[in-house]
Amino acid sequence: MSDHAAHPATSVVALGRPPKTPGEALNAPITLTSTYVGSRSPEPEDRVYARFSNPSWEPLEEAIAALEGSDLAAISYASGMATVAAAFSLVPVGGVAVVPGASYNGTIGLARELQADGLFALREVDPTNLEETIATFEGADLVWLESPTNPLLDVLDLPTLITAAKSAGAFVVVDNTFSTPLRQRPLELGADLVVHSATKFIAGHSDVLLGISVAADPKVRDRLLGKRALQGSIAGPFEAWLTLRGLRTLAVRLDRAEASAGELAARLESRPEVSRVRYPGLPGDPGHQLAVAQLDGFGAMVSIELAGGAEAAERFVEALRVFTPATSLGGVESLAERRRRLPSEPKAVPESLVRLSIGIEHVEDLWADLEAALTASGGA
Ligand SMILES: *Cc1c(COP(=O)(O)O)cnc(C)c1O
Repeated sequence: MSDHAAHPATSVVALGRPPKTPGEALNAPITLTSTYVGSRSPEPEDRVYARFSNPSWEPLEEAIAALEGSDLAAISYASGMATVAAAFSLVPVGGVAVVPGASYNGTIGLARELQADGLFALREVDPTNLEETIATFEGADLVWLESPTNPLLDVLDLPTLITAAKSAGAFVVVDNTFSTPLRQRPLELGADLVVHSATKFIAGHSDVLLGISVAADPKVRDRLLGKRALQGSIAGPFEAWLTLRGLRTLAVRLDRAEASAGELAARLESRPEVSRVRYPGLPGDPGHQLAVAQLDGFGAMVSIELAGGAEAAERFVEALRVFTPATSLGGVESLAERRRRLPSEPKAVPESLVRLSIGIEHVEDLWADLEAALTASGGA
């Protein structure tokens, strides 16, 4: 595809469009139907029922695949978690899954549930400890990696971990939600499956839930397509359209939010109320060297720890006026959340940690808001 060679900022605008035909629409339509007109002897490519296929998914699926550097179309789902669940369903019953204990809380929560149900044995790891993690790959069917991690913003040594997992015979999944294909393409490093919560940066406007995965092997893709049709975890046609609409501006949104995140992270380091800033773009961050080597940008997520503990963190979040106190991330609007307010959050996440999703507002308005809220967080 010629778009493939273009800069990502051009690709996100150009991919997934109908052929340029005079008098025809610029954008792909939304197909609202549950079924297709049938025939006595359908051809294999004929559409039959809209749980099996919908033309509304395809422009998005082609675009995400091309951005991830794959010729195989992506697979869209009802949510990021439907995508995660589909990936776990590839583990044979009685098999072994290696999953970082500080993965996104839904991912580790589902893995623990599947282990409790007796579907597979779960090995929880700290993937920043390379040696210990690689030792768990022996006999594993699936290795789950997420980088940078949500919300600790650890950067994993993906080339080393993927190579070790592959040579142990495991199927490797990388959750690329935080980086997006514009900053990191795990298939190029040998991953078998990339998963996204497109709800976040890809759709980008906090108005849609959608997940999407890209498989390296056509046989894996076929299995996932078959499972999606039977499990019914499909994306809605309007949601797929909204996600593609959001993708059009991903490059400019990300550039802007990332520039602000870098600036704010550096300024936050100088505040006495903040005991630690986690941002891979900071030269002192433990993940900085890996981030420089692996990522095309440090992203728009910043996590801070408040010196005053959980109470100060809550006061800080409540005092914010431009940032909205809310879970989720990757939208045009800045959000802040003390993650441990949720009982489902892994214990590896400090009580005083506030995750900031930097949006596209003016950086000085964001800084003024953070400064005022930090000052307020010290009060009674
Ligand atoms: C939000 C998120 C998910 C789950 O996606 P949903 O669209 O909310 O179902 C998975 N992984 C990561 C890293 C996320 O941030």
